[in-house]
Amino acid sequence: MILTVQQAEDRILSAVSVLEPENRHISDSLGCVLAQDLYAQECLPPFRNSSMDGFAVMSKDVQLARIDQPVQLSVNEIIPAGNVPKLILQSGQAAKIMTGAMLPDGADSVVMVEDTESISEYVKVFQSVNSLENVRLPGESVKTGDLVMPKGKLIRAQEVAMMAALNVQEILVFRLPTVAVISTGDELADLGSNLSPGKIRDSNRYGIMAQLQEMGCQSIDLGICGDKEKNIEETLLDGLLKADALITSGGVSVGEYDVVKSVLSRLGQINFWRVAMKPGKPQAFGLVDGKPIFGLPGNPVSSLTVFELFVRPALRKMAGFSALKRPIFQTTLNQDVVNNTDRVNYMRVLVEKREGKYYAKVTGPQGSGILYSLVLANGLVVIPAYTRVKAGESVEMQFFEDAL
Ligand code: AMP
Ligand code: MG
Repeated sequence: MILTVQQAEDRILSAVSVLEPENRHISDSLGCVLAQDLYAQECLPPFRNSSMDGFAVMSKDVQLARIDQPVQLSVNEIIPAGNVPKLILQSGQAAKIMTGAMLPDGADSVVMVEDTESISEYVKVFQSVNSLENVRLPGESVKTGDLVMPKGKLIRAQEVAMMAALNVQEILVFRLPTVAVISTGDELADLGSNLSPGKIRDSNRYGIMAQLQEMGCQSIDLGICGDKEKNIEETLLDGLLKADALITSGGVSVGEYDVVKSVLSRLGQINFWRVAMKPGKPQAFGLVDGKPIFGLPGNPVSSLTVFELFVRPALRKMAGFSALKRPIFQTTLNQDVVNNTDRVNYMRVLVEKREGKYYAKVTGPQGSGILYSLVLANGLVVIPAYTRVKAGESVEMQFFEDAL
């Protein structure tokens, strides 16, 4: 079966669903999507306080203060942050106050220290202030009962800080999937082992685990399985018990010694597809016990690209994200490109941004095994089937990482 990229994507995305939410401590919630609406149980700031180091005053007392006509007030109290003022400020008085300290009753504003001069128990004020100037009011940021973060919001550092500010300790989040990863192929040798004739290093597994890590997902390393069916089956079943999803690489292309295919077929409803794209044509996808299995092609660039285009959005859906795919940008290409095939070509490019516009340079030979041109790249340009693009023309591009 040959599918378009869009069809393959639709099938994968409609088959996977969001994982059960779980309670997490906020320190363990970074990168997760919030699975509940979060309402403030407290207000921020909790009390009226100073936003400056300076002097709390009655603004009407210093109304006429100017650089050449200072107003002198008596300093009756010093209020460090964290302390409660003891006195009620009267006209003619000032209280020395630190940033974040509670404003004394009677005061309605703060003159910043730079606009004053202290002389023993007095302060000269050289600048007038308006009522409420340099004062933070209770609840001016967030009021009790406010919806601070809606369900579906990504938890970044600022959300963690906000939750801490509101004394939220535990929240309901969609967890990121844990994914088991296995490499198949008798030709594969692991890091550090002897590279005997006919063998190559297993790069896919490390690449895929790094892609998972980049998304914040945990991976379970199932190692290399040769092309022995029994071995592959046992390892996959074991992986499925522990993981929310499973990724294999290799062994799904047409007409090959297809042990992965037969093992996957036995495990559940797995479809083997050819997707009209290059790299990444042969793929497998299906669900076993409701858990998605992604069979990536063996060629290193294909494996990384298929992960980026199909697996990443699917895992994001499982993790509760609403934006699943990388954004598409327009870029000009530095050279003529011809795609004479019936497959969409995802070409590796190095994209630069100059004066708000993107410029893409093809990074070298585009064979599915040539990992080096992906090392030099930060994006993929999309060359549709049977399309000729001239240097300087605009094409669609997506970054292989966060956008520039
Ligand atoms: P396959 O999809 O198994 O036919 O593999 C296609 C190509 O990718 C072959 O050249 C394999 O040797 C290579 N390949 C398969 N698995 C890996 C892997 N884990 N790391 C690097 N190359 C691989
Ligand atoms: Mg193979």
